[in-house]
Parts: sequence; structure tokens; C-alpha cells
Amino acid sequence: MIFLCLIVCKFVVYFNFNNKMINIVLFGKPGAGKGTQAEFLKEKYTLTHLSTGDIFRFNIKNETELGLLAKTYMDNGDLVPDSVTIQMLQSEVEKNSQSRGFLFDGFPRTIAQAEALDAFLTSKNEEITATIALEADDEILVKRLLERGKTSGRTDDQDEEKIRNRYQEYNEKTAPLMSYYEAQGKFYAVNGIGSIEEITERLSTIIDKL
Ligand code: AMP
Repeated sequence: MIFLCLIVCKFVVYFNFNNKMINIVLFGKPGAGKGTQAEFLKEKYTLTHLSTGDIFRFNIKNETELGLLAKTYMDNGDLVPDSVTIQMLQSEVEKNSQSRGFLFDGFPRTIAQAEALDAFLTSKNEEITATIALEADDEILVKRLLERGKTSGRTDDQDEEKIRNRYQEYNEKTAPLMSYYEAQGKFYAVNGIGSIEEITERLSTIIDKL
């Protein structure tokens, strides 16, 4: 009997039954370090990194229809409309359906996007595992972005007014997502100030316990 049980258990582990994806949302204001941390975390946990900002920039560079549509919003530091962003994100998830999980960076940014993401993942019998915010003071972040703008070539990083508009968008539309995920028991926050390694360590401590 014990022998049979051992064989069944081994079979279950081998075929990864019940092994759901790990889907993590990285939150944080522009400049908080989401992209930098995602680069480390995607390797460490074998996750697919999806940055909506990067996907939009790729489309702008390649002058696609989507890029042309997104450009004006991005240049002004405004959010791209939900319908466009949600559709784009879903198609990226579909393209990576064999993934062990996703690291969402810069998505969702509105309640409508979060609701759409929940519904989409539920339709695939998956869910958000956790959302983690990188916290940092606005004034430190403004300085960081202006510095990044000198080398990134990103016009939205070069103009303080546009940067502040991006923070206003964040405060109005993205910050309410914290309570949205808190209500689901899936919200965590870490101090986003420190060395890259220190912050990766803080994030890993949370992810390892999920
Ligand atoms: P990021 O690289 O994440 O800072 O995003 C750069 C810009 O892309 C933002 O200021 C928005 O204009 C646009 N963007 C990126 N992600 C989203 C999103 N989830 N919803 C709407 N707009 C977005």
C-alpha cells in the first residue's frame, strides 16, 4: 500500500499536477526600479517578463499601428487607453502560454486593467499570485528619471513636467490598485531605496514564501 502511494505521489510531482503559474505584479512609480528588478527576478524564478512600456516602445520603434496610437499618450506622460493596453497584454500572455509564470511590469495600471487581468487569468484557471510595490519618495524618483533621461533617449524621462504628470496618473489611477489587491490578500510592499542586490533580496524574501 505504502509502495503504491509512493508511486502515485511521484507521478503527481513528475507531471506537475496542481502546479499553477507564479504570476507576480511589480508595482511602483516610474523610476522605482521595476524593470531593473524584473531582469533579475525573471532569471531567478524562470518567469516571462512582460513590460507594457517596453512593448509599446518596441511598437513605436517599428512604427506599427499600435505604436502610432500609443505614442502621443506616452510622449505626454498619459496612460494609453485601457482597451488598447488590455488587448495587447492578453495577446502577449497567449504568445507565452508555456511559461512557468509571468512578471507583470507596468501592468495593470488601472482598476479596469486589474479586473480584466483577473478575468483573463481565471478563464485560464490561473490567478495573480502576489503584487509587490517598490516604494520610494517622489523627489528621489524625479531626480533618478531625469538622470536616466540623459542616456535612455526616452523623451518622457527628459521633461520634469511630463514626469510629474506620470506621477499624477499613478496617484489617481494606479495607487487605488493597492487596496484592490489588499482586499484579495495579495499585496506586499518593500522599500525601493537601496542597492540593486538589497532590493532583489527584499523581493525574493516575499516571493520565496508564496
Ligand atoms: P513605463 O515604461 O512602464 O514607465 O511606461 C511608459 C509609458 O507607457 C507610460 O507612461 C504610459 O504612457 C504607457 N504605458 C505603459 N504601461 C501602461 C499601462 N499598463 N496602461 C496604460 N499605459 C501604459
